[in-house]
Amino acid sequence: MDTAEFRHRGKEMVDYVADYLENIEQRPVYPDLKPGYLRSLIPTEAPTDPESYDDIMKDVERVIMPGITHWHSPHFYAYFSAASSYPAMLADMLCGAIGCIGFSWGTASEATLVALLAARCKTIRRVQASNPELSEGEIFSKLVSYASEQSHSSVERAARIGGVMMRKVPTDSNYAVRGDVLRKMIEEDKAAGLVPFYFCATLGTTPSCAFDCLSEVGPICNEENLWMHIDAAYAGSAFICPEFRPLLNGVEFADSFNFNPHKWLLVNFDCSAMWVKRRADIIGAFKLLLWCSSVLQHWQIPLGRRFRSLKMWFVFRVYGLSGLQAHIRKHVSLAKEFERLVRADKRFEICAKVVMGLVCFRLKESNELNQKLLERINKSRAIHLVPCQLSGHFVLRFAICSRSTESHHIQRAWSHISQLASELLLEINHHH
Ligand SMILES: *Cc1c(COP(=O)(O)O)cnc(C)c1O
Repeated sequence: MDTAEFRHRGKEMVDYVADYLENIEQRPVYPDLKPGYLRSLIPTEAPTDPESYDDIMKDVERVIMPGITHWHSPHFYAYFSAASSYPAMLADMLCGAIGCIGFSWGTASEATLVALLAARCKTIRRVQASNPELSEGEIFSKLVSYASEQSHSSVERAARIGGVMMRKVPTDSNYAVRGDVLRKMIEEDKAAGLVPFYFCATLGTTPSCAFDCLSEVGPICNEENLWMHIDAAYAGSAFICPEFRPLLNGVEFADSFNFNPHKWLLVNFDCSAMWVKRRADIIGAFKLLLWCSSVLQHWQIPLGRRFRSLKMWFVFRVYGLSGLQAHIRKHVSLAKEFERLVRADKRFEICAKVVMGLVCFRLKESNELNQKLLERINKSRAIHLVPCQLSGHFVLRFAICSRSTESHHIQRAWSHISQLASELLLEINHHH
């Protein structure tokens, strides 16, 4: 492809993308295909000779699109929002053109791991300074880390990769970690001869968007020499709105903080931002201990990275703080609108406080019945949801995800859900 063709195809692609996004709600949000469907549609080997670009673009619709889950459809309510905006896409294109290799920005999961590894090195050095008779290996085997029982699966994985124990901290009725519970676990572990060294707090848990109480756990972590990392992957973006700042009270006790602009700040995947209180803890720690230096040369695991800050810069300038705040507030108000619809229907209950763009709800019936309801919702393919477990209950998660979700989509999604619930309950009553 030469420059002249690139000019032509580039404009064509912009039109294709604009058409795709403008008409995305006409497509089924979730594919009606089995894994492996692609095998019969594509050759087993790469082509020997060049093919025409027109054929490739035709195959995008024929081969690729039928298998796509349309994350940016207003009918998509699963997981958490995945950010998307036109300026970010344009900046991504420029990023591809500049093609330089940057050296920062990871994912939320990596940030959790990096903080844990840094804390591990720091603690081993500290304990060894006061107990020179202990070997690194001996200290290592006593290290224990903590995270909410509601924390993301990547937190437990970080502990496994880091080769240290992890204890799951029970949460209160709002699914938040409180100070007294954490303190008790630390005391018990210290009495058993272990060395508590790391706590991963979550602001905006994945199941229910709960917020660990930083103002209680922060001082404990500082007193007890635990590194406090904050995983705010989803909810972190909302702190650009002053009304959510009280949830950050106690953030001053944190050693590191991470959030994903790619979740809720209109910056397309992937883009994750990590802040560290003392950069020397990260950079220095890895140089001093043998087993760390081979894992982490600089800040994180991969050496090379894309120029991700470019798309942030575009998005911040095109939307401005006010535009980004409006985006967050719109999602929160749509979630509250959905919450009101659920509360108005006595067959249903809300399962966790609705603070941001997520509503956890269920029928006041058995887990089996709620599971069946979710199956029907997803089988109908009109909207897409995923479940979670809360206090032993099977719960439906309704996350406001798309930039283009409007009130009428919420109304339609709710009438669809309540209709399917009515059908289901009617069938059950007939059986009895
Ligand atoms: C989404 C999410 C993650 C995972 O983020 P990645 O950047 O994909 O690693 C971690 N923690 C929480 C609370 C999340 O919501």
